[in-house]
Amino acid sequence: MARTRQQTPAPSPAGLAAAEPAEIQRLVEDLDGMLSRLRLGAIREQLDGLLEEAARRQLNLREALAWICAAEVASKEQRRLSMAMTIAHFPFVRTLEGFEFEAQPSIDPGKIRDLGTCRWVANGDNLVLLGPPGVGKTHLEVALGREAVARGYTVQFTTAMELLGALVKAQQQGTLEMRLAQYAKPKLLIIDELGYLPLEPAAGHLFFQLISRRYEQGSVLISSNRPVDEWDEVFGDQVVAAAILDRLLHHSHVVTIRGDSYRLREKRRSGLFRPQAGGSSSAGIGGVPPPIPAEEA
Ligand code: ADP
Ligand code: MG
Repeated sequence: MARTRQQTPAPSPAGLAAAEPAEIQRLVEDLDGMLSRLRLGAIREQLDGLLEEAARRQLNLREALAWICAAEVASKEQRRLSMAMTIAHFPFVRTLEGFEFEAQPSIDPGKIRDLGTCRWVANGDNLVLLGPPGVGKTHLEVALGREAVARGYTVQFTTAMELLGALVKAQQQGTLEMRLAQYAKPKLLIIDELGYLPLEPAAGHLFFQLISRRYEQGSVLISSNRPVDEWDEVFGDQVVAAAILDRLLHHSHVVTIRGDSYRLREKRRSGLFRPQAGGSSSAGIGGVPPPIPAEEA
């Protein structure tokens, strides 16, 4: 027999025998307290305005309740977002809207916008951003990381130096397991600037342990100024580098940025620097031009 939905009689608030005007008045006086107990802080703060607006729009009771609940949901979502952004530890605020694609013609805007939907994060895929300094790798990492946070994914931003420093220290202190677990936790781990500085000998193996731990669990977004076929130099060990790349690139997207530093663009225009020779013959996996050694921060 099909179950029919029973209409429940309108409940009377506990301890309230009848909706006597005096009882209703008592409830109204306790409204602030009830909203606090229910942790409906936004409704409590905005109640007068919300009720006035509901009356002005002549909402019926159900509509008014929905309108008021929406204010609480929006406020809680805003709080969650700003908390998650703080936890992510982005070094600055950058957005996809703020990225000038015309300035970096080697990047396919469609590909980046597609990555902005974060389907790759949902799938646990990795993303590798390769290119010389100043071409917008960190900008894109932060922008994509913020998109992921906005979609409810946990994100942590760190630099390769900071990450490996923490792992080396944890190993010395016998707390490696805890640290690895911590870095394995976020749905998206962003590792900025791999390859800028030489790594300690133990670092490659620790990095491998981290990548193995995250393999097919959560996404890694990693940026480097070195083409992946130079990563054995970065890690100082060919076997370890191959093992890292094997896992990292298995389910991955690789975006290679070629071209001039955005930072130096204006200076070049003013004639302070000569433009770089266009194109590059270097073609590793991902075919990144060789690193440009130094530039001002
Ligand atoms: P990288 O990490 O590749 O060294 P960054 O992402 O740090 O480069 O870029 C350097 C600065 O230039 C940042 O402030 C960044 O926001 C800005 N920038 C780089 N490329 C672009 C771009 N195409 N559009 C807008 N800003 C850019
Ligand atoms: Mg950078």
